[in-house]
Amino acid sequence: MRSSQFLITTLKEAPADAEVISHKLMLRAGLIRRLASGVYTWTPMGLRTLRKVEAIVRDEMNRAGALEMLMPAVQPFELWQESERGDQYGPELLRFKDRHQRDFVIGPTHEEVVTDFVRKEIKSYRQLPIHLYQIQTKFRDEIRPRFGVMRGREFLMKDGYSFHTSFEDLQREYRVMFDTYHRIFSRLGLRFRAVAADTGSIGGTGSHEFHVLADSGEDDIAFCPDSDYAANVELAEALAPTGSRPAANAPLVHVATPGQSRCEDVAQALNIPLSGLVKTLAIVPELPEGGNAGLVLLLLRGDHELNEIKASKLEGVGAFRFAREDEVKDVLGCIPGFIGPVGIKPGIRVVADRSVAVMADFACGANAVDTHLTGVNFGRDLPEPEVADIRNVVSGDASPDGKGTLDIVRGIEVGHIFQLRTKYAEALNCTFLNEQGKTDVMEMGCYGIGVTRIVGSAIEQNHDDKGIAFPAAIAPFTVAIVPMGYHKSPAIQQAASELYEELIAAGFDVLLDDRNERPGVMFADMELIGIPQRLVVGEKGLAAGQIEVKGRRDAEATMIDRAGVVDYLR
Ligand code: ATP
Ligand code: MG
Ligand code: MG
Ligand code: MG
Repeated sequence: MRSSQFLITTLKEAPADAEVISHKLMLRAGLIRRLASGVYTWTPMGLRTLRKVEAIVRDEMNRAGALEMLMPAVQPFELWQESERGDQYGPELLRFKDRHQRDFVIGPTHEEVVTDFVRKEIKSYRQLPIHLYQIQTKFRDEIRPRFGVMRGREFLMKDGYSFHTSFEDLQREYRVMFDTYHRIFSRLGLRFRAVAADTGSIGGTGSHEFHVLADSGEDDIAFCPDSDYAANVELAEALAPTGSRPAANAPLVHVATPGQSRCEDVAQALNIPLSGLVKTLAIVPELPEGGNAGLVLLLLRGDHELNEIKASKLEGVGAFRFAREDEVKDVLGCIPGFIGPVGIKPGIRVVADRSVAVMADFACGANAVDTHLTGVNFGRDLPEPEVADIRNVVSGDASPDGKGTLDIVRGIEVGHIFQLRTKYAEALNCTFLNEQGKTDVMEMGCYGIGVTRIVGSAIEQNHDDKGIAFPAAIAPFTVAIVPMGYHKSPAIQQAASELYEELIAAGFDVLLDDRNERPGVMFADMELIGIPQRLVVGEKGLAAGQIEVKGRRDAEATMIDRAGVVDYLR
């Protein structure tokens, strides 16, 4: 590509609202432009990178035997009612009516649509297993779109869904995907980690997230450098003892009165949709040893509007906003009915209602000293045994597997895999005839990758004061040719053009900067955009049969023989 025939729209300064470096650099390098909050246009330059990310994801998914398809962005709301996710999903779900007043949503995810497809198309165990995936535009009406394409409202996701005759076969595919994701993120040139994860509103049991390690990440992940142990510290925001998050993010907490023993009861009592309950720390239908029945501790959505409505309603039952561990203790210690100490202990797992998906090691018990709720199975949706969950750990704490100590770092969630089991297949009646000719419900897995988010997170990991330093695998161009005096010297023009043709023929993604700009401007742009290799064609080198070459991260340029350029770059 020649710059004169392409579109380079670099900026000296990033708009003031760009908070993180990747967002700033993507705007300055002209990779994206904002259309509305959380909604971005990808420029021709940015799209080259996005397509390269997509191609790697697609290549590895195909290699793993998954089949690509394309489902619609627009989905009938009835499907969401069938899966009982319609209300639960909450305000992130963008809904609208068509001209006939029929309800639709713009898909934030596609479990319902794919399950509907499979229940209609697949009838026999002979057609299973099958893994269907797409790379498609999602819409989530995020409460706080930010960081550019990293938390957009419209974004591109690779979402895959596998269907199986047995749990064992689902587990096999889950391991295949676990490995496939490692291959994908390695090929993308990212530093990442897989961590055990909460299953969120999608539900189900086993789950892992893949995090790109970066300080701007919104998640805290804990891992043990001496073993495989790694987990997402999901509730760090609510409970961070350091107060490292802004106080405005502190959630409301509701401690239910006796009788409010299910999430539904609490939602009803507070007159809020079930989706307003973001996290259930503990829901205890019956405390062991005759403790207080019906103790429910819920984190409510940190949404101002919702908070304001609720604040008044909550007074009677106790609503608290807090950000620090000791505040939690103070508050809970005052609740009538609590007779034991209230503490937050790492390593204790409490599981609650699947609709708000939860596990926590928040010991909110009120029984005899030290019984808390440890080890008690509260019923529904226990996570897989290896999904140890941790809260409020600090770097240096012992790893739950006993093999070393924990490090806590920030991560950006770029991938998420789940064993959904039969949650959706049951709700939508997605069945098959087994070998005995009997009807059975399919086991199901789902596997997401944030394609657009990957571009932002790659930049978070690869930049310097000059701009982006893209990993070669996803750079918009891999080689830039910058001629000195292209418009003045026919010799330079010819030499640069020959070099350009030669590199194109050798399969490189080359940008020949033939704009009539000062060298300083061209150098700065190529560095800002993050092209991995820069070749300079100048009079002096030309006379000596040499080309100047500089890697994007090199401190100095070097001269190499003109004849050896292709070999050098390979
Ligand atoms: P997050 O915790 O960041 O909100 P999520 O857990 O809601 O993400 P999933 O439902 O697991 O997201 O979706 C699969 C992948 O889609 C995520 O791992 C992430 O990479 C990507 N993704 C989710 N939400 C967004 C968003 N608003 N903008 C860009 N990518 C996103
Ligand atoms: Mg989300
Ligand atoms: Mg998440
Ligand atoms: Mg997720």
